[in-house]
Amino acid sequence: MRKDDCIFCRIANGEIPSRTLFEDDQFRVILDLGPAARGHALILPKEHYDDLFGIPEDTAADAMRLAKRMAAKIAGALSADGFNLVQNNGEAAGQTVRHFHMHLIPRYRGDGQTIGWTPGEPSAEELDETLKLLQ
Ligand code: 5GP
Ligand code: ZN
Repeated sequence: MRKDDCIFCRIANGEIPSRTLFEDDQFRVILDLGPAARGHALILPKEHYDDLFGIPEDTAADAMRLAKRMAAKIAGALSADGFNLVQNNGEAAGQTVRHFHMHLIPRYRGDGQTIGWTPGEPSAEELDETLKLLQ
């Protein structure tokens, strides 16, 4: 399903022009307009899914296959020193556009960007409690 009021549905399906690196029947890969680094691209499925929880497993697997191919292409073409694959789900996790997408972010030594977190220091009991909830 596609949503008329979703900007990424409209971009993915070519209704709004974008700088497209790759397109097939399932996905469009575009340059991010607010890049973390040169070559930052987004994988957009042409169908609308809000996030990882809504995307079918097969589509998620296809997106990851494509991410691997695009990462190699982008990193090679721009001589990147590293690469981040980022995928945000929900406002609390920094998702600003509610249409599943994967960030492909080539990284360069000294580019000054930080994509990360402050490591916590849970006790062994806390870790064991968490593990129990997740098993
Ligand atoms: P999120 O924060 O949801 O994980 O990522 C949304 C990303 O989409 C941001 O990196 C933002 O720069 C990018 N973005 C938002 N609107 C547009 C747009 O209209 N065109 C393009 N190419 N990127 C967009
Ligand atoms: Zn959409």
